[in-house]
Parts: sequence; C-alpha cells; structure tokens
Amino acid sequence: MKVYLDFDGTMVKHMYPAVGEPNPKAIEVVKSLFSKGWKIHLNTYRADIGFINEALDYINKAKIPLESTFLFKLKPPEWDINKAKKESTLWIDDIAPFIPMKNSMVDWEVIEEQLKMVKIL
Ligand SMILES: [Mg+2]
Repeated sequence: MKVYLDFDGTMVKHMYPAVGEPNPKAIEVVKSLFSKGWKIHLNTYRADIGFINEALDYINKAKIPLESTFLFKLKPPEWDINKAKKESTLWIDDIAPFIPMKNSMVDWEVIEEQLKMVKIL
C-alpha cells in the first residue's frame, strides 16, 4: 500500500522554489491514508534539482511520516481510482493525467470522496 506523493501543486500551491500556501485538505487526507496503513513516498522534482529540504521541512512540520523520498521523480500514470485500489498504489500528483484539479492544484476534496467511494478511506 504505497502512496507516491508529489509536492508542488499537490501538497502546496505552485511557488517553486519557495514553498507555497498549503493546499486545503492535503495534509488531512495524507494523514488519513497513513493511519490506514498506506506508506507515503515523496515523489517530487525538487529531489532532482536540490530543493528537497524545504519540502521535507514542510512535511515534517505537518507530522506526516515519510517512508522514503525518491532521488529522481518517477512519472505518474493516469489517475484511476479503481486501478489504484486494485494495485494498492496511489499516485497523487498534479501532473497525473485526469487527476481531479481545482485552482491549478490537486483537488483533495474530490480525491477524498473517491477514496471513500472505493473504501480506501
Ligand atoms: Mg507537482
């Protein structure tokens, strides 16, 4: 049960290289996933280009336990909640095709609804 979690445009607003304002509900939903046994893997371009510490500070302050941080970003597949459930793998990333979006960010309200719909949450 893995979550590949992006940072900019997913956890926070796009303000790269600064850290943007929190994306509403992101921390709450990620913590809910963790509490259900999902392991959180940070998957951000920041790792490739050396701006990872700001993201790690943010995640630490939010008290989200990370399983790992990838050194190079993996490209997310299309958002498909049924496939995610079947494969126990979630890619939550604003560049994932078809992922629910609002104001140029991942829409965590809709993500949460879908996670509940398939009984991940
Ligand atoms: Mg992003």
